[in-house]
Amino acid sequence: MNLNDLFNDMERYAKEANVPIMLKEGINYLQNFVKEKNIKNTLEIGTAIGYSALKIASMGSYVTSIERDENRYNKAVSYINSSDLKDNIKLILGDALNIKLYDKFDLIFIDAAKAQNINFINNFKDNLEDNGYIIIDNVGFHGLVGKSSEIPSRNLRALVRKIENFLNYLDEQTEFKVTRINVGDGLILLERM
Ligand code: SAH
Ligand code: MG
Repeated sequence: MNLNDLFNDMERYAKEANVPIMLKEGINYLQNFVKEKNIKNTLEIGTAIGYSALKIASMGSYVTSIERDENRYNKAVSYINSSDLKDNIKLILGDALNIKLYDKFDLIFIDAAKAQNINFINNFKDNLEDNGYIIIDNVGFHGLVGKSSEIPSRNLRALVRKIENFLNYLDEQTEFKVTRINVGDGLILLERM
């Protein structure tokens, strides 16, 4: 299927089925980043239905992407198989925290369980090329980050606190240079010092 039609289909499906695919602004940033830095090999944590994986692949990078939800994984497989980019995307079904990979990537894009960001970084940082990048989505968490004490719902408050903790952890670590990028729902860019 033509890529534009496919993206439209995926956006429609994501809306209907409530799948939290990346926001337009964030996707645009990511696509430009892949092009500008000449990224050739990306690892994605959190495929969902394959939308961002296809967007990244369409900029000339190979993509390996991990998803733990079987229904979403199956949906991603069928979308990606109907595109010309199918040979450039490898999908893995499983929990990223239980998966060990041996390839090296010049970009690791983390867009999965928000409370697990530190664990994802620790599990995959050895897979990052020396001059590679990590990008993390949703660190603004719908405008709630920094306001956890005002959130009435216990679960949501706990989640937002975890993201706040993650941002504090980033401020204190010495391995990566941290840049906050204020597009979409908030992105973080990490580069090795
Ligand atoms: N990157 C996608 C959206 C991902 S939504 C896009 O923009 O198109 C986040 C996904 O991460 C969900 O589908 C969820 O099932 C998956 N996920 C959460 N924790 C995970 C884990 N530990 N391992 C693998 N997938 C995970
Ligand atoms: Mg996201």
